[in-house]
Amino acid sequence: METPGNLFCVAAPSGTGKSSLVKALLELDSRLAVSVSHTTRKPRGQEVDGREYHFITEPEFRAMVAHGDFFEHAEVHGNLYGTSRKAIEARLTDGQDVVLEIDWQGALQIKRLFPHAVLIFILPPSWGELMQRLDRRGEDTPEVIATRMANARTEVAQARHFDFVIINSLFETALFDLKTVVHSQRLKYAAQQRNRSQVFAALGLA
Ligand code: GDP
Ligand code: ADP
Ligand code: 5GP
Repeated sequence: METPGNLFCVAAPSGTGKSSLVKALLELDSRLAVSVSHTTRKPRGQEVDGREYHFITEPEFRAMVAHGDFFEHAEVHGNLYGTSRKAIEARLTDGQDVVLEIDWQGALQIKRLFPHAVLIFILPPSWGELMQRLDRRGEDTPEVIATRMANARTEVAQARHFDFVIINSLFETALFDLKTVVHSQRLKYAAQQRNRSQVFAALGLA
């Protein structure tokens, strides 16, 4: 499906800094909106239903799958996550840019549906640093952290299928890299032709 809006998928092992980076990017870029996923995971301390996620039960999730409500869905660390059609369809056809913070399985499903989607993988600078970030975040139990660290090995092996790789060592550098990827998509010929139609017309470029 080709849409006028850009679709960015950001994936990373848990604790890499994906949510922090996307949040900072959204604060700088009013043309970008994040898609709120559905999940069967329980909310963390500060999380609000409808803001970080739509928190639903497993039967509710299964019913949505049966109705074909999801563009993609996947099981991640023992919980179900999915991007609903409602979350992104209207925005993209409207020509707005959307960012999905989803796992690699979901990102690869999205790429099949939307070949123009831009897949960005965020890597931690090292395994030791990833462990420290998960610890410092202080949101997950030691068991959950152990599962996430174990899964991280399989996840980073998927980075090769992504269009861009950003290493989140220094936060501000990684944020700059992310901004650059988003900006570069907006400089593509078709995007410029659509968004700067008056300049194109004045120059005789139909
Ligand atoms: P959450 O978004 O509520 O899950 O909280 P986070 O822990 O993800 O991030 C809290 C805030 O700290 C966000 O506004 C981030 O942009 C910011 N932040 C996180 N890590 C760093 C960092 O290493 N450097 C800077 N400058 N800001 C950071
Ligand atoms: P994710 O969304 O990938 O699970 P978070 O955005 O929640 O990760 O980040 C995990 C933790 O690491 C948070 O406490 C965040 O503040 C911290 N963090 C993110 N980026 C950096 C960085 N470049 N350097 C140090 N700490 C970071
Ligand atoms: P967390 O529980 O830490 O918020 O997220 C765990 C993992 O699930 C992360 O890799 C995150 O990107 C992924 N995830 C969140 N929402 C979705 C979604 O809608 N679809 C898929 N496939 N993965 C998601």
